[in-house]
Amino acid sequence: MFFIFYLLTQIIFFSFWGRINILGQKLLFDERPKTKREDLFDRQKELEELNRNVNRPFILLTGVRRIGKTSLLNVFLNEIGMPYILLDCRKLKENYGWKDFYQLLSKSSSKIIEFLKGIKGVRIFGGEVEFSWKGKDFVSLSDLFDHLNKNRLIIAFDEAQKLRGPLSREIKEALAHAYDYDNNLTFILTGSEVGLLYDFLSVENPSSSLYGRYFHEIKLERFDKEMSVSFLEKGFSELSISVSDSIIEEIVNFFDGIPGWLTFAGNLYSQVKDIEKVKEIAVNVALEELKNLLESKRKVSEQLGKRYLHVLKCLAEEKNSWSKLRDCISEKEGSTVSSSVLSNIINQLESMSIIKDYQFLDSIYKEASKKL
Ligand code: ADP
Ligand code: MG
Repeated sequence: MFFIFYLLTQIIFFSFWGRINILGQKLLFDERPKTKREDLFDRQKELEELNRNVNRPFILLTGVRRIGKTSLLNVFLNEIGMPYILLDCRKLKENYGWKDFYQLLSKSSSKIIEFLKGIKGVRIFGGEVEFSWKGKDFVSLSDLFDHLNKNRLIIAFDEAQKLRGPLSREIKEALAHAYDYDNNLTFILTGSEVGLLYDFLSVENPSSSLYGRYFHEIKLERFDKEMSVSFLEKGFSELSISVSDSIIEEIVNFFDGIPGWLTFAGNLYSQVKDIEKVKEIAVNVALEELKNLLESKRKVSEQLGKRYLHVLKCLAEEKNSWSKLRDCISEKEGSTVSSSVLSNIINQLESMSIIKDYQFLDSIYKEASKKL
């Protein structure tokens, strides 16, 4: 308990430090998602690709956690000069219903209030929008898209795999309808859990309403070594801190080109000047995220939670093949594990973009798994 409190106070303290420079520009090591091009390091290619494809009905922005999807999306939306709605789907709880969905929509619609005037089932008072999601004045999502289609509009769903749930089918039907009829609408969907996002869209499943539709996908990759070094050098120089090449190299090697971790590490190092401490805190942040995952599995069953725990620990011990993993888990459990159970867990971890081919996609998650 005390440790979690300590961790939280450290994160809060460090992230409030040194965020904005005197020109009102965000610093590179600012941990919030970036919103302006001048605050965004590189990603010119991806911005151009977004610009080139903005007239398509659907764009996907995919990549692991902390790779910079929200930042890229923000910068793009701010620059494009088109009206947009941006929904942060992480705000939806797991079994969300229409009430939750429309609540999120109303909170995100302040920029397009003008477009919503006069639509049946939409009430506007002051700067607030309210949607009727049931009753006789109910506005369905497809109808709403049709109304919005009177204007050119971008509708962005950040972390769209969170749209999975009891409403999956209906939301997909509305999206498929908009795809076919609402040429003025462009949807941009981001996803950290790429397999789950594909599952949700299920474009390859003939019984899905989005079957066969084309999604233009932009994959965000990590920075290579050289870029990571420049990123850190720029960030430290903004703070007027001189940091040795060997420390920079150590950060680059440990954090493996993921911009969010480089930002985290740069910010923290500039405060504590202790690379081991920086690593330790980063691993503890990832550890908390993994513990949340295990907790959600434990809610299904104690047994399943334990299995996930063992799989993660064995993968962290580099049991990087089917048979090595199976033996390692059997050893930890003291009994054999069925192939179907094991392959389910592996598929699920792959869908969540935690692993691929028995390897962790984020080396900090690997380190954290050793401490589980
Ligand atoms: P994602 O949405 O993929 O999880 P974010 O956009 O939230 O990633 O970025 C994670 C962190 O990394 C944030 O602190 C953000 O400021 C920083 N960041 C990501 N990409 C860049 C970039 N290209 N330039 C500057 N900072 C970045
Ligand atoms: Mg994000």
